[in-house]
Parts: sequence; C-alpha cells; structure tokens
Amino acid sequence: MNIDNFNFKGHKAIVRVDFNVPLDENGNITDDTRIRGALPTLKKILNDGGSLIIMSHMGKPKGKVNPKLSLSQIKDAVAKALGTDVKFAPDCAAAADMAAALKPGEALLLENLRFYPEEEGKPVGIDKEDPNYDAAKKEMKERQKKFAETLASYADVYVNDAFGTAHRRHASTAVIADSFDADHKMLGYLMEKEVNAVDNILKDIKRPFTAIMGGSKVSTKIGIIENLMDKVDNLILCGGMTYTFAKALGGHVGLSICEEDKLDLALDIIAKAKAKGVNLVLGTDCVAGDAFSNDCNTQICSVKEIPDGWEGLDAGPATRELFTKTIEPSKTILWNGPAGVFEFDNFAAGSRAIADAIVIATKNGAFSLVGGGDSVACINKFGLADEVSYVSTGGGALLEAIEGKVLPGVAAVKE
Ligand code: AMP
Repeated sequence: MNIDNFNFKGHKAIVRVDFNVPLDENGNITDDTRIRGALPTLKKILNDGGSLIIMSHMGKPKGKVNPKLSLSQIKDAVAKALGTDVKFAPDCAAAADMAAALKPGEALLLENLRFYPEEEGKPVGIDKEDPNYDAAKKEMKERQKKFAETLASYADVYVNDAFGTAHRRHASTAVIADSFDADHKMLGYLMEKEVNAVDNILKDIKRPFTAIMGGSKVSTKIGIIENLMDKVDNLILCGGMTYTFAKALGGHVGLSICEEDKLDLALDIIAKAKAKGVNLVLGTDCVAGDAFSNDCNTQICSVKEIPDGWEGLDAGPATRELFTKTIEPSKTILWNGPAGVFEFDNFAAGSRAIADAIVIATKNGAFSLVGGGDSVACINKFGLADEVSYVSTGGGALLEAIEGKVLPGVAAVKE
C-alpha cells in the first residue's frame, strides 16, 4: 500500500519512527531533525481522522528500563510539533487499553521499545561461543514474535517511517509487519523519500558519477567502496583512510591514523579501480598537526612524507583543488564521511571544499546525496544542507541500501 492512497479515517495506525534524538544532561532535545522528519506521516494520519500510536527506540538501553532513555522526556516536544496533545504509555508492551481508548485524531506515544530485549531480538547474557547460544537465540526469536504481535494488536494499520533502523530486522521495524496484510502496511513519507533518493543514485545514473568516501577508517567502509566500484566514474577516498593508502604505497605517515592490517586491502582497492576503469582520487598533500587538537601547530606536507610526531588531520590545498575539479563537473554525487577532522575549525577546509564543490555541481543540475552521520553534521555545520539535493537521515541503513542490500524494514512492508 502507498501512504498517499490510504485514508486513515476510522483506523488505528501504529507508526515506527526514529525519535532517537540527542538529549542534553537535563533531558532537553538538542536537535529535533528526526521529529520534524516524521511529521508529514504523523500529521497525515491525524488529519485524515485516524488514531495514532507512535513507537520508537532511544539510545541503547540493552533490554533494560533506563529512565535516562525514557521517551517521556520528548512527549511534550512531540505534542508541540504535532500541534495536539499526546498521551504516553509507560510500558510499550502493556498499552492495549490506552490504544483501544484512542479517539480519531488522538495520539499516543509508547515508551522506548528497547527497554525490552525482544525489540532487537538478540539473546541476553550469553555469548556466541556458548553451546546453548543457538537455543537461546531460537527462544528469543519466539519472544520477539510475540512482542511484535502485542504491538501489532494495538492497531489495524502499520506504517514504517524509521529509515535509520530500516537495516535491522527488529520487532517494530520488520517482524510486526507479518501481522498485517499488504493493504494495511506501508512506508511513511520519510522512508519513501529516502528510498527514492537511493534509487536515484543507483538507477538511471547521470554521468559522471562521483562518490566521495571519507571518515576515519577504510575497514568500516570497505563494503560500500567495493560495491561503488562497479557504478562510479570517480571515487574520491579521503579523511583518515588517506594514510592507510599512503603507507600501503610506501609512504611515511608519522602519527596519522592508519590501519596497519589493511595495507593489502588498500592495494587491492587501487588494483580493482584500475581494472574497472574507475578514476580513484587519493589525497596528495595534507594539513598535518603536531597534536590532535584545533590549536596545534600545523604544516602542509605530502601524505607520504609526514614527519615523526605529526599526523595528517585534513586535506591539503593541492588535494582540495583535485577534489573540486573532480566534483564540480559531476552529474551524480554521493558523499559519506568528512575529509578531515572537521569538528576542529582549523581542519575543516578539506570538507568545506568538498561541500562547496557539491553545491556548485548541484546548481549545475547534478543530483547530490549526502548521508551518514558525520557528513550530515558537516554539511549542517557549513549551513549548506539546503543546497544539496538530499540529506539522508540514515547512516548504516543508507550505506547498506547503496551497497545494494535489501533493507528488512522496507522489504517487510512490500512483501
Ligand atoms: P566515520 O564515522 O568513519 O565516518 O568517521 C568520521 C570521523 O572521522 C570524524 O569524526 C572525523 O573527525 C574523523 N576523521 C576524518 N579525518 C581524520 C583524520 N585525518 N584523522 C583522524 N580522524 C579523522
């Protein structure tokens, strides 16, 4: 079912959202992007005359009640954003009466789903080597199924609008969908937008297609790097992984972040790019610092000749120019991961150069997708989020979707 074609009048809808918002020490929300992101779906249900049951996780309580991660802290903010009163169910698995009492146009927020280990469905207190692990896993899967059925019993329609957790087969993101027929389960608007953005990147690619992968380590990005190799014209690898490549190529990288056990992998990536005709762009120079701090002493040097006691913390001027030249003429762009320690203003220039070039390319008609935690923080820091085509809310989910994996949270409502 498609959300636009469904009239929620007289229905009770249970909606999985991602309200895992950052809180300060007093429980105040410091960034409400995720709440705002879900509003179109939630408002559509209320405006149609449906009753709304909102469910989410917050943080990692590991299957135990933790008041610091209670969703009661965000109830008022959700009510304000929705422009209506929101009731709160302090136990997400015992909310049947509150759900049943909801009238059309009323909303109920359930307590943190992850206060129950059944939500994630991983056996607790037993490690994988234990001979009883498989039995414990099987038992937990049964409990997960029951937990999902309890949540499903509150409503007659299920909507999944939580892209951030769509790559997980959790009770509320996927298993619950088994309790609804195809006409009564659907993606929310935010999920639809995310899925379309990924489709835009993977299908009907306008060329040149440039992917920019940064961040700290090559090991966490290898899956997507290998997958992208079959699709892109240009692959820019930047950030901390620069130094693993520089070392693999015989360079001296001083104190730079470097994965010694990934040197062969780096050479393998270089060989694969060559074999596939991908233009692999690696940094040539860097801004090195004599400490990991914003105010350390700096010098520009080759990524292969970093003096002892110094570490590469940002892309150097020649590298920035190379990145800009590659990005600006592109027609499809994916950016995941900063080019340096952008959190320090003095080492943000490489990431800024990338962001500026993406903005120019977008103005010239490119489709640009920025996604994955840190690149989003980065583009927000520069105030350029509105000048790229799409900023994804998903980190792991986005990368897995681009790797070509089927997301359980999407598949569950489409089956
Ligand atoms: P990731 O979570 O793997 O995407 O990594 C993002 C983090 O990588 C950011 O917090 C950056 O500060 C960090 N980073 C980027 N470049 C470097 C570098 N040259 N040295 C150390 N950390 C870096």
